[in-house]
Amino acid sequence: MDRGVAAAIEAERQKGRDVACARGCSQCCSTHKDIPLYPLEIIGISWYAVEKVTGVEREILRQQLKAFTKDSACPFLVGRACSIHPLRPMACRQFNVFGSPCKEGEDPFHTRRGDVMDPVKKHVDQAFYVMLPYYGVENEAERVRAVEAGAFHRMVRELHACRWRELAEKMERRDNSAETRKSGSADVRKRESAEVGKMKEGLWAGGDRRGAQ
Ligand code: SF4
Ligand code: SF4
Repeated sequence: MDRGVAAAIEAERQKGRDVACARGCSQCCSTHKDIPLYPLEIIGISWYAVEKVTGVEREILRQQLKAFTKDSACPFLVGRACSIHPLRPMACRQFNVFGSPCKEGEDPFHTRRGDVMDPVKKHVDQAFYVMLPYYGVENEAERVRAVEAGAFHRMVRELHACRWRELAEKMERRDNSAETRKSGSADVRKRESAEVGKMKEGLWAGGDRRGAQ
């Protein structure tokens, strides 16, 4: 899909239209409250947040997910960047605007539709086709039929309708179990050094015995 989006942007550039979207430009992530999300994307995003986001970014993300309400900005927006960028939804990948960057609160889909890039159906269908085996549809003919029938769209949800607090809790459980493992291995190290201490004491005792002989 990313290659398809890049090709579509390049085709527009050839016509003299430059894309306004750039890193750090993130009004859309605060303004949009109707971002479509598919089940597999929710799984991917959750995995990425739990396993891959680290440090201060992780802490901010966890707090935002916990405090999330349907009126909030996208909870994955951290420091004007997408904290789940490699696994961001297809809708975010496709939403590109030409001309000038969006103003605060502006949804160019409504204010200047002509500047919003149209999704390229061929690439969207291809992305769905690739994902279908993960939903248990492996047979090629069935995959083609499912894509043609738009079966995917029946599974769509909205990002703002998801219970992201549960993801924050999952991140916490992961952090706590990592802490337990760390303190567990600290305990093991403590036990090992106690064992080494005992062995050394044993050596001294052996020396004494030898000296006594
Ligand atoms: S959609 Fe608008 S706000 Fe979002 S990156 Fe593009 S220009 Fe910036
Ligand atoms: S998922 Fe990422 S790119 Fe999409 S709205 Fe949220 S912060 Fe923006």
